[in-house]
Amino acid sequence: MPRVIPDPPYDLARLIPEFAPLAMETVLLYPRSGEPGARDSSLGGPLCWPADEPWPYCTRSGHWTRGDVGGSWKESKPGAVPMVPVIQLFARDAPWLDFPEGKDLAQLVWCPLAHDEEPGGSVVPRLYWRDEAETAARGTLPGAPVPAEGEYDADLVPRPCTVSPTPAVEYPGYDLPEELLTALTPRLEELQERFGFWYTEVASALQNKAGGYPAWTQEPDWPHCGAGHRMEHLFSITAEVAYGRWLPLDEHEPGTEPPAWDAPARSDLADAIGPDLMIGDAGGVYLFLCRRCPGLPYAHRSDSH
Ligand SMILES: [Zn+2]
Ligand SMILES: [Zn+2]
Repeated sequence: MPRVIPDPPYDLARLIPEFAPLAMETVLLYPRSGEPGARDSSLGGPLCWPADEPWPYCTRSGHWTRGDVGGSWKESKPGAVPMVPVIQLFARDAPWLDFPEGKDLAQLVWCPLAHDEEPGGSVVPRLYWRDEAETAARGTLPGAPVPAEGEYDADLVPRPCTVSPTPAVEYPGYDLPEELLTALTPRLEELQERFGFWYTEVASALQNKAGGYPAWTQEPDWPHCGAGHRMEHLFSITAEVAYGRWLPLDEHEPGTEPPAWDAPARSDLADAIGPDLMIGDAGGVYLFLCRRCPGLPYAHRSDSH
């Protein structure tokens, strides 16, 4: 079920009409630690995977793990490493998302090790589009292989989370064109003085999400497909902001006074919020898709450094 989120403290597009054409609909996922099943939408949960299709492995040499927190980087054991589930999203839970024709299930897995040659030294993801009924008819894999000790970086393995896809409207943060930002800064500073928040804190969703603007924490780096099309943002996987504007109303600490868009999470829930990932220094991994090319090519970026 979609979550109920507070209204923003102000209507950005009404106060600064230049933002109106930049509004984008996104689908916030709200991952919460739990026990999703293989037929549930999830983040880090078991996948509805066809029993007759081999589980994906990363066969690259030179992928890396970091032992204890703050430990030095070391090369993982050589050999193939099983990928881990990251996102499973059924169209029945996220009807706002545009699934390719004939598909109603999106699955994202990645190699839970760092890779020097990837953008930001990040994970290696793989994206699958499926038809749920057809997949179920083939029988589903009862249990996926799990990476062994030394075959994963714990910071890059999302814990199993239920999700509650929820549509929301957001505005660009880092994706706001530089010249527009310069022109609008005096008015944005007025808003900040009046309401106490820079506009991105209330209008840009730095959350786990599908569609909308990537939850960049650094300068944008949009990929292009092989045919030169700018790809579209599909998923952002990131640490989850556990307070404020996008926190569902039923997760607010009781007794906190309005404004609801600045509320902290209930203390008994705070530990369950988010996939417990640490991608670089609180960065994210962003998946992009080209719908114009056959085979639906995809690419990823990470602002982990
Ligand atoms: Zn790998
Ligand atoms: Zn293309």
